Amino acid sequence: MLNVTKTYLPPLDEYTKYLEGIWSSAKLTNYGPLVQKLEADLKSYLGVKHLFFVNNGTLALQIAIKALGLSKKIITTPFSYVATTSSIVWEGCEPIFADIEKDTLSLDPSLIEDLITPDTEAILATHVYGIPCDVERIQAIADKHNLKVIYDAAHAFGVKFKDSSILNYGDVSTISFHATKLFHTGEGGAIVTDNDEIAYKISYMMNFGHDGPEKFVGIGINGKNSEIHAALGLCILPKVGELMDLRKSIHKIYDDHLAGNGIIRPYIGDNVTYNFAYYPVILPSEQLLLKVIKALNQEDIFPRRYFYPSLADLNYVQYEGNLPVTDDVCARILCLPLFHDLSEDNVINICSIIEKCIKQ
Ligand SMILES: *Cc1c(COP(=O)(O)O)cnc(C)c1O
Repeated sequence: MLNVTKTYLPPLDEYTKYLEGIWSSAKLTNYGPLVQKLEADLKSYLGVKHLFFVNNGTLALQIAIKALGLSKKIITTPFSYVATTSSIVWEGCEPIFADIEKDTLSLDPSLIEDLITPDTEAILATHVYGIPCDVERIQAIADKHNLKVIYDAAHAFGVKFKDSSILNYGDVSTISFHATKLFHTGEGGAIVTDNDEIAYKISYMMNFGHDGPEKFVGIGINGKNSEIHAALGLCILPKVGELMDLRKSIHKIYDDHLAGNGIIRPYIGDNVTYNFAYYPVILPSEQLLLKVIKALNQEDIFPRRYFYPSLADLNYVQYEGNLPVTDDVCARILCLPLFHDLSEDNVINICSIIEKCIKQ
């Protein structure tokens, strides 16, 4: 059976070495040495100023919204994982959807300004599939209207724009280290900012509001992650470059074998160092997409409709406008299997099944 993704696991003996250390210190959490080392190593690998290792990418988003003091309207993308929108609503804010760009599939900057009202406080956009948003235009709009910017960078580990980590854009970026992501810690995530004041807020908000054992500076939650999760990250981080290279070569095989079939691939953008995290394809029609899924499923291959449906269709948001690009893309986009040890034969087989469906 082939799924859309498969978790990379490091050699078990490398992990058990860390576990032996944890067993001998009996220190499992509360900023132990492994969490501290993972945060330091991630900061240096990614080239970011402040990074907080938290228990997942969803809480990272919620803490980011809290730390920026948002409580009203947030302009956001309808084309992302549900956590992007649910975090906004969970934090008592209102998502205001703007449509996406046809080529990059991220929030369309040209549609943002019309949606700004006196209640608009922020823009929350996703670097979907690791493809950077138009961070420069978004920042210019935010500066002009005094808005905060949060990026859901859950897919964007290792992605660079103009030679700097994509996580350095916006006021805060959040990332997920869930087991299905390119770099992972089983469950986990991080919050990144280069602003010292925001960093201080995040540091106490993710730790019950503590600033020292007997001092509480504000409301907090338990966003900490454990030594056991940090150890997994420390095993995987040295391998992440190699994992990206493997995915890059699989991308190339897909590209070569799918060319000329009327399949559209999103545009990665200029000045981007990409991480090859996903392989989404846009098929000519939804009918054809359903046919492709059925044909692949018959061969025990399970691609995923990612993302579908549009987040504007969630039953807890009120949206009455039109999002023609999102609706069209959601209906036709499919993520094909992509993981470190997916074989060339399997990729070629997937491509020929798709080709057969299209040509029939
Ligand atoms: C995975 C993901 C999240 C949530 O991260 P978790 O670590 O699973 O909580 C948020 N946004 C996007 C776009 C994601 O893909």
